[in-house]
Amino acid sequence: MQFCAQCGSLLKSVAGTLQCSCGHRQDVSVYRIVERLERPAEIVVVDRQVNSLAVHEHACARCGFTKAEILSKGTIVTDEDEFFMYRCGKCGYTEKADGLKVT
Ligand SMILES: [Zn+2]
Ligand SMILES: [Zn+2]
Repeated sequence: MQFCAQCGSLLKSVAGTLQCSCGHRQDVSVYRIVERLERPAEIVVVDRQVNSLAVHEHACARCGFTKAEILSKGTIVTDEDEFFMYRCGKCGYTEKADGLKVT
């Protein structure tokens, strides 16, 4: 609650300002801005560069990052073995995972 600085009557909040029946207005936005500045939004630093699916141990040949995502290329030709690709979680470089069997 706030009271009019001129006549002392109780102010009514109208559209972001405090208005009095005497015609006096007080801006409340200044108070609200200060409140926001005192409580800055907490910034959670998330490394968006790293693929969250990259959980497999594999050293990238290009950037040296040690976690990679495994991509299945499936069986395009029926007599060809299914093979997998490592995709670097950092730079996205893909390498064929020779001999890797994921079941
Ligand atoms: Zn007033
Ligand atoms: Zn890489």
